[in-house]
Amino acid sequence: MSCKAGQRHHPIRVRQPRLTEDLPGCGRPVYPLDLCLKAPDLSAWRNTASGIPGVQIFDSGLNGPDLVIVGMVHGNEYAGGHALEILRRNNPVPRVGRLTLILANLTAFGCFDSTAPMASRYLTEDLNRLWHPSRLNSSERSSELDRARQILPFIERADLLLDLHSTLWPSEPVFIVPPRRRSSDFACVLASEEQPAALVVTDLGHQGGSRLVEYSRFMAVGGTGRACLLEAGLHWRPETVDMMVKVSERFLRDAMRIHFQGRETDTKQPAEMAVVTDNVLARSADFRFVEPWVGNTCIPNAGTVIARDGHDLICTPYDKCLLIVPNLRPRLGQLAVRLARRTAVHLNA
Ligand SMILES: [Zn+2]
Repeated sequence: MSCKAGQRHHPIRVRQPRLTEDLPGCGRPVYPLDLCLKAPDLSAWRNTASGIPGVQIFDSGLNGPDLVIVGMVHGNEYAGGHALEILRRNNPVPRVGRLTLILANLTAFGCFDSTAPMASRYLTEDLNRLWHPSRLNSSERSSELDRARQILPFIERADLLLDLHSTLWPSEPVFIVPPRRRSSDFACVLASEEQPAALVVTDLGHQGGSRLVEYSRFMAVGGTGRACLLEAGLHWRPETVDMMVKVSERFLRDAMRIHFQGRETDTKQPAEMAVVTDNVLARSADFRFVEPWVGNTCIPNAGTVIARDGHDLICTPYDKCLLIVPNLRPRLGQLAVRLARRTAVHLNA
């Protein structure tokens, strides 16, 4: 981490001995569970030529990079299902190399219930927290561990992997990359064509376990696999599908350049990069932001109160602090927000 990222001008957590009841605040907003997008018809993904449900392979037959696009690692994020179904119907055989499309948690998606749309995020555990040898190579079993092992051969061979996600709470699109230069270069190529350029965030990992983009293929020092995660927009919105399709098509178009060259040399505008400095967890069941912050909001001044957590005030530790994917109703112990600062250099460059 760069020295700058460590600089603090204000503590994040400030205990309030006598908390007044009239602090500003939006309280805990109701869950935005309005479904503006129907669940996709994914019948073509049940019996596939690959023999693995949810895995579709488009092989040019010529040597070239192995490209992988993953959707629905979280079963209820079915904008990713729409996006991959749109791509599949276009028969996206690359000029060289091979493209694999993976709908990761089809089993959880199969349990989707529009009256409880959060319930089918996973069946027994979060499929995006178990991409570590200690879990994958263990003797444990769960619906998600079994599925991770089933799709692992396709992840193992990926040169470039794009993992499509959506969010419950509003956020500007953001690319999240593991702390490896090769992956932030990859994400910057995809991000730099947005108008304005999308944010590329290198983060600190997730306390609950390793995410797909942190799998050893993408984390190995001196390795070649690159991965990035796109938080494309709200879960059940058509514009989120549009964003996912647009970025996926850009990925397929630029894959050769990214694979062999890897740097954003001829893009018109550089991507905005930021590095997560802190994960703020809810230590009380009553964590409330003082405003319904939209993800990627930049708070100008250090010491600005952004939330209260029981008797604590949560403050920005430095000027121009970015709020990454705020969770406006975190449960006790859950990640409420990541704090990030802009950087001009790639982490782990
Ligand atoms: Zn997700």
